[in-house]
Amino acid sequence: MRAWAVVENGKPLKEIELPTPEPKGTEVLVEVTHCGVCHSDLHIWEGYYDIGGGKRMSLGDRGVTLPLAMGHEIVGRVAKLGPDAKGVKVGDLRIVYPWIGCGQCEKCLAEEDNMCAVAARSLGVYQNGGYGTHVIAPHPRHLIDPGTVDPAVAATYACSGITVYSAIKKAMPLPPDAPIVVVGAGGLGMNAIAVLKALKHRNIVVVDVSAEKREAALKAGAAKAVDGSGEGVTKRIVEAAGGPVQAVIDLVNGTATARFAFDALGKGGKLIQVGLFGGELTVPLPIMAIRALTVQGSYVGNPKELRELIQLSQQGSLQALPVATVPQEQANDALMRLRDGKVTGRLVLKSAAA
Ligand SMILES: [Zn+2]
Ligand SMILES: [Zn+2]
Repeated sequence: MRAWAVVENGKPLKEIELPTPEPKGTEVLVEVTHCGVCHSDLHIWEGYYDIGGGKRMSLGDRGVTLPLAMGHEIVGRVAKLGPDAKGVKVGDLRIVYPWIGCGQCEKCLAEEDNMCAVAARSLGVYQNGGYGTHVIAPHPRHLIDPGTVDPAVAATYACSGITVYSAIKKAMPLPPDAPIVVVGAGGLGMNAIAVLKALKHRNIVVVDVSAEKREAALKAGAAKAVDGSGEGVTKRIVEAAGGPVQAVIDLVNGTATARFAFDALGKGGKLIQVGLFGGELTVPLPIMAIRALTVQGSYVGNPKELRELIQLSQQGSLQALPVATVPQEQANDALMRLRDGKVTGRLVLKSAAA
């Protein structure tokens, strides 16, 4: 198989030849047709996350080894089944759920693979992913039928889609007219607006530093858009929401956004932290108790949520994120365009097999 791989952190991806894996047991070999280029690929490529206070979390220390074909928003065709793989056949087009764990523990068996504490084996992070011509799914249950959804769009549901869907589910239930605050109107933010609207939520308050992005959010159906720059952001959020809020989904999750998001919470409010911008939040402990607040992290989503999202999409009420396809062999170029902030919507690599 060919792969456009990280050979050295922070250096251009290289086209390399790797042995095509042979599916064993319940494994399924999938020939990649589409793969989204996600912002977290930039962190994996650089080799670290900023965890605040000038500290970095090295991905090498966490078990990421090079060379690595990144890419976790994968759609492809079943190419070969292991002897114990059932339920799919060669040629089937499937989304490959990438956030896999050990496959054996209670979490994995309950289809909460992304919460596995035993072993992280995510595709495109700890194992080769969709920046290559082939990937291995450990079990057919990780292959999800995209139905009639455009495969380039369906690919993005494996990360950006379920990331916002899972975060929104943690903020729910809320009455359709209760304000829900979404911090960040980039790709994930636009996706969050689309999912909330598909779930019939009407009162979406978006916060972003960019006037252009606020404008786009309002066009996409946000009820209000708040400038997230400078002083007084909390006050502006509370004004826009008509009072302290019950739910904030922070898709940026940096020191500044976490601060104003936390401070905007009303009694019983929830702050769902999603972004990986980096930084720290100091929490006043008595306030936490007195206001009965929840600060909850949310990391990607599980296969059940991916299936629910596809179902929502099939019903036709979910506005698709704008995607642009790029030939797979231009993976490096696509990644650099994302790094340089030149991408609106999502770039999706399209392979010769598509
Ligand atoms: Zn991602
Ligand atoms: Zn597990």
